[in-house]
Amino acid sequence: MQIGVLALQGAFAEHRRILSQCGVEAVLIRKPGEMKKIDGLIIPGGESTTIGKLMRDYHLDTAILEKTREGMPVFGTCAGLIMLAKDISGRDQFSLGLMDIKVKRNGFGRQVDSFEADLHIDALGKAPFHGVFIRAPYVESVKPNVGILAHHEGKIVMVRQGNFLGAAFHPELTDDLRVHLYFKQMIEDAKNAIA
Ligand code: GLN
Repeated sequence: MQIGVLALQGAFAEHRRILSQCGVEAVLIRKPGEMKKIDGLIIPGGESTTIGKLMRDYHLDTAILEKTREGMPVFGTCAGLIMLAKDISGRDQFSLGLMDIKVKRNGFGRQVDSFEADLHIDALGKAPFHGVFIRAPYVESVKPNVGILAHHEGKIVMVRQGNFLGAAFHPELTDDLRVHLYFKQMIEDAKNAIA
């Protein structure tokens, strides 16, 4: 299995590191042609307007959408979650629009730029997951077809809709492999569904 990590800007090296701990070789993606062999894609955190602009400049937006139509799973963290959303609260900003969610950029306020919090994520088992939030968005609302996997202080911070997974926090900045292993399982399930 090969998992692509969009490497235009942001925390792509950290995703590559944790994927290798999961026994998966990551392919850094900067051009559409590099996406041919990948079975899943991670869109990392960073700055969502920059990632969106570079994505369009390099024609990666259409390449990603095409692969998702063939069933490729995508996981977005932080700015990557913003890229997956259909709706960005109060802003007219480019996104891929793959998930029926409305996100609020910098939703936890500017004063608390960054914080860490233990999250209860039933899908990952009993032990809390240490969430690292950096100028994080949250999910303001979801359509009924979207599963909510985690909240923090009443705000939605992790969601799944079919082959798409989004987290407002940065699991690649911890040594806990469970979120990435969960995504790896999504890819295996998607492959079996196609086969
Ligand atoms: N605040 C950033 C944005 O809106 C996201 C921050 C992050 O990815 N760590 O693009």
